[in-house]
Amino acid sequence: MTGPIAILGGGQLGRMLGLAGAPLGQSFRFLDENQGAPASMVGEMIVAPYDDQDALARLCDGAQVCTYEFENVPADTAAFIAERIPVYPPPKALEVAQDRLLERRLFADLGIPAPDFCTIDSVEELRAAFADDDSPRLLKARRLGYDGKGQFLLSGAKEAERALDAIGHVPAILDGFVEFEREVSILAVRGRVGSDEERTAFYPLTHNIHRGGILRVSRAPDPDVTPDVEALAQDYARRILDALDYVGVLAVEFFWVRGPDGSAQLLANEIAPRVHNSGHWTIEGAETSQFENHLRAVGGLPLGPTHAVGASAMVNIIGDLPRTEAVLAVPGAHLHLYGKEPRPLRKIGHVTLRADSAVEVERLLERFTRIIG
Ligand code: AMP
Repeated sequence: MTGPIAILGGGQLGRMLGLAGAPLGQSFRFLDENQGAPASMVGEMIVAPYDDQDALARLCDGAQVCTYEFENVPADTAAFIAERIPVYPPPKALEVAQDRLLERRLFADLGIPAPDFCTIDSVEELRAAFADDDSPRLLKARRLGYDGKGQFLLSGAKEAERALDAIGHVPAILDGFVEFEREVSILAVRGRVGSDEERTAFYPLTHNIHRGGILRVSRAPDPDVTPDVEALAQDYARRILDALDYVGVLAVEFFWVRGPDGSAQLLANEIAPRVHNSGHWTIEGAETSQFENHLRAVGGLPLGPTHAVGASAMVNIIGDLPRTEAVLAVPGAHLHLYGKEPRPLRKIGHVTLRADSAVEVERLLERFTRIIG
């Protein structure tokens, strides 16, 4: 196939896709609403709103395929492009990932366990939800929530008004608060060529640590993951790939909990139909990165192996830039800066620490944290 790959969104994920595609001889054309978006340095950039049809037509012109790096692509935008060139992952995946209710319904339809939840459309409903049980719950806007935004932790009915004010009185779901042992995610990838077995691959389960709803550290492979937990995550992810007729990288985030009999269980929290922050470690820590495999998948190329190479820990750089010299002085540290202006709580880069074993990575992480703070 010739022609550039069209990408909706020109943030850091677009930039890392561009960096991964260059050695494959691929070229890129991005559309982003903001001037100087991080992907500007790795391809042609069209700056326009996502509903600008002239700009969308220019994005498609001569392009082989379109993909996206954020899940809030407007449905009309995806439909407009899909009439002209193939869009992967399929727009159906966008529809589901944009609405927490549709996401949870998909999990239920596929027999994938998830946190207990109910829908909330009014303050009365929210108060009523606490009628017989005053345990803490998490109110989450159905749409447009990310990195803990559009969420409110309630300790009881008395906070109902405040919680709905905080999320802007939009339709929401109310999650039971899950006392998880850890958060894990799986990155699955499905290509366009070969048998289901040949065109499907999974990265090792990643252990994720969030603070304030934002991912801080990912570790992979997670030494505590047993083959049965890995198999469970793969089984659930495969059901989603099949149901959505999926092509590309898919991230599924889980809460790892203990069942009443002490067995490990995974509750699916959400999906992301794109390359994902919890897979950044794959750039140095896997045989083929999530970015390269996403491009191979959407471009109709064979997938690369997904096994880990040694062990990795990825640390997000949030808010302030560290001193480059200090980061690079840590052996095994790989620095990725996104070219974004530092701002409180903004992800502006990440560092992956890679070594031969998980024990060694922990040592590097301690050293890194001491130096960088
Ligand atoms: P989300 O936007 O759903 O990924 O939520 C962001 C973070 O909030 C998650 O990674 C968890 O750390 C936390 N969280 C979300 N839902 C729940 C829940 N039902 N119980 C406990 N913690 C949660």
